[in-house]
Amino acid sequence: MSKNQIALADRVTQIKPSPTLAVNAKAKALKAAGADILNFSVGEPDFDTPEHVCAAGKKAIDDGHTRYTAVPGIPELRDAVVNRFKEDHGWQYTPEQIQVSCGGKHGLYNIFQAIINPGDEVLIPAPYWVSYPPMVQLAGGTPVIVPMEEKDDFDLNPDILAKYVTGKTRAIIVNSPSNPTGSLLSGSALDAIARLAIKNNWLVITDDIYETMTYTDDALPHILDVDGRMKEQTVILNGVSKSFAMTGWRIGYSAGPDHIIKAMNKIQSQSTSNPSAPAQYAALAALTGPQDFPQTMIEAFLPRRDFFVSDLNAIDGVSCVNPNGAFYVFPNFSSYYGKSFKGNAINDSVALADYFLDEAKVASVPGIAFGADDFIRFSFATSMDVLQEGMNRIKDALAALS
Ligand code: PMP
Ligand code: GLU
Repeated sequence: MSKNQIALADRVTQIKPSPTLAVNAKAKALKAAGADILNFSVGEPDFDTPEHVCAAGKKAIDDGHTRYTAVPGIPELRDAVVNRFKEDHGWQYTPEQIQVSCGGKHGLYNIFQAIINPGDEVLIPAPYWVSYPPMVQLAGGTPVIVPMEEKDDFDLNPDILAKYVTGKTRAIIVNSPSNPTGSLLSGSALDAIARLAIKNNWLVITDDIYETMTYTDDALPHILDVDGRMKEQTVILNGVSKSFAMTGWRIGYSAGPDHIIKAMNKIQSQSTSNPSAPAQYAALAALTGPQDFPQTMIEAFLPRRDFFVSDLNAIDGVSCVNPNGAFYVFPNFSSYYGKSFKGNAINDSVALADYFLDEAKVASVPGIAFGADDFIRFSFATSMDVLQEGMNRIKDALAALS
């Protein structure tokens, strides 16, 4: 570092760039340079945004919706979110209790900025989505990682949770279906969380971004349904990125108590002002139009999941929980740790994911990024041909280790 190079803020040096986006960028760059890469890294549907949604975005531009909007989002979109919650779940929210943000990710950022003080602890069940701990840290809080176990199908065990509760616990984040495991939280786990939250006055942040993507006919248990009192202590995070294949449009939304949404709006007014106006009109078309699109994706994903999970479990020494939601598998490869390729030992998930990329040309995300080093995440939101070819390469790569 030269003498005149400006030093960075401590908060930046504490965190790393998003590993999911980093692997995706690397895979894309290798592919652009001509390498035959199969990309199972980033989590985004391999579907195009529905046509009527794109048309609404284009029309918004033609209609002149190209200026700043209200900070929490256009009223029509907030009304549409209110209606979705009412129709889909029977939950009652007012438009003032809704914030539209620049993607679900920024909604989460706003939530943590609104409620965390330095030293506050936020419980994060692991495996967790990569961005939760850094977002808590950027807000000055302390992420407290609560392990969930493969043998429990990655459901939260209330006895384990209880061990991580302290006087500084302020909030817990739940994500069901989960990224990266695809597991759903059971009603009994949510019940235990609600009891602790009510007793200790915690906020529950429920990241429901994959709620439309489940592979079971059973209703998805939700914290708001286990105890009516939880509405006062819950912020819901959702968005259209996954459910309507709109990752690039950057529209998410949150719902919660008036004072928390108001605080989040204050932060949004001083940071992004509002999400992109045309994208909000596109999201409006998504939430008010036909609601069968997520089901179309689920029907396409189901055979891919079945293929990937059964083939992974058939590999000697590999175990893979069958995901009941989202579009990820999270197999355990730890029995391969300690083996070598051409004299280089593979001792952790980063080394194994690097090996898959270098030798098998398969891009995946090391489990350590999700707080679980025994595992590797693969997204199966890609074609069956790619999955089959990828599976062959993974098997060959594992067989080449000694
Ligand atoms: N939560 C989870 C669990 C996710 O996987 C993602 C990733 N897309 C998000 C939130 C944020 O989604 P987006 O910002 O694309 O709306
Ligand atoms: N959520 C997706 C994933 O986990 C997109 C990348 C990101 O936002 O980190 O791959």
